[in-house]
Amino acid sequence: MKLVAVGTVAFDSIETPFAKSEKVVGGAATYITLAASHFVDECGLISVVGDDFPTSTLDEMKARNIDLQGLEIKPGEKSFYWSGKYHYDFNTRDTLVTELNVLAGFNPVVPPSYKKTSFLMLGNLDPRIQLSVIAQFEERPHLIVMDTMNFWMDTAWDNLMLALKEVDVLTINDEEARQLTREYSLVKAARKIMEMGPQYVVIKKGEHGALLFHERSIFFSPALPMEEVADPTGAGDTFAGGFIGYLAKTHNTSFDNMKRAVIVGSAMASFACEKFGPQRLLELTQDEINERIEEFVELMDVEILIED
Ligand code: AMP
Repeated sequence: MKLVAVGTVAFDSIETPFAKSEKVVGGAATYITLAASHFVDECGLISVVGDDFPTSTLDEMKARNIDLQGLEIKPGEKSFYWSGKYHYDFNTRDTLVTELNVLAGFNPVVPPSYKKTSFLMLGNLDPRIQLSVIAQFEERPHLIVMDTMNFWMDTAWDNLMLALKEVDVLTINDEEARQLTREYSLVKAARKIMEMGPQYVVIKKGEHGALLFHERSIFFSPALPMEEVADPTGAGDTFAGGFIGYLAKTHNTSFDNMKRAVIVGSAMASFACEKFGPQRLLELTQDEINERIEEFVELMDVEILIED
């Protein structure tokens, strides 16, 4: 398996300033694998759901060559449930409910066919589970990317620190980077995170784009200025799926290629915002993706003469 992702497969209820949706399919790993499936032929998924999760969604995922051998379905239990409410700027949100349900007792089992994976995406999840997944690979994956959020900083700090030591790239949003490091400056925050383990840090700033840090180098990608945002839920995970999917497709983890991966991730994230839930990622065509990446190239295109 070229790429494996672990994370939540869930139900979300979302409220934006303009609309509300009750219980749509969500979860970090749902967004990650659907985004990555546009770049790799096969993508393994490690997660757990209850028997309340719709088989039609699982069939749609299988149809996109997402391998579900690593997805445990627990009879009689409920899937992870999250509910959030966005503020007027769509960039910040409050978590209203987090029900771990089936996730509370989850002990992930990495299927034998996943054990020689080159690219591993640890979606936002209990760091205890992230660590357990890393430990089960026969050889360390070539690249491990991890995502996390404030919930785990508040509830699982020690394991979070252990997990950070094991990964190559951390993707995190700006507010969370500040919470993790107690630094307001994102440059200082990224430096502190690199001291915690990862050699690369991506700080996502919602509609203000994303920053990639490595040693003393910084790269910035804008986000696509959009006329309408339906629902930003999953944009960060979709970014991560596009980012690692592109790296896996090109099998190149140089800093220059990571810059491209940040653009690809940003392009994929813009699609995720267009509809509630992961719907848009299911319908996307390669032509649409290429056109969107082209829009990013134009957005960043500038010639400037610097006078002596
Ligand atoms: P994002 O908007 O990219 O930050 O991710 C939103 C997704 O993360 C939603 O679909 C939720 O189901 C999922 N999620 C929310 N809270 C958690 C949590 N504490 N652990 C894992 N996944 C979560």
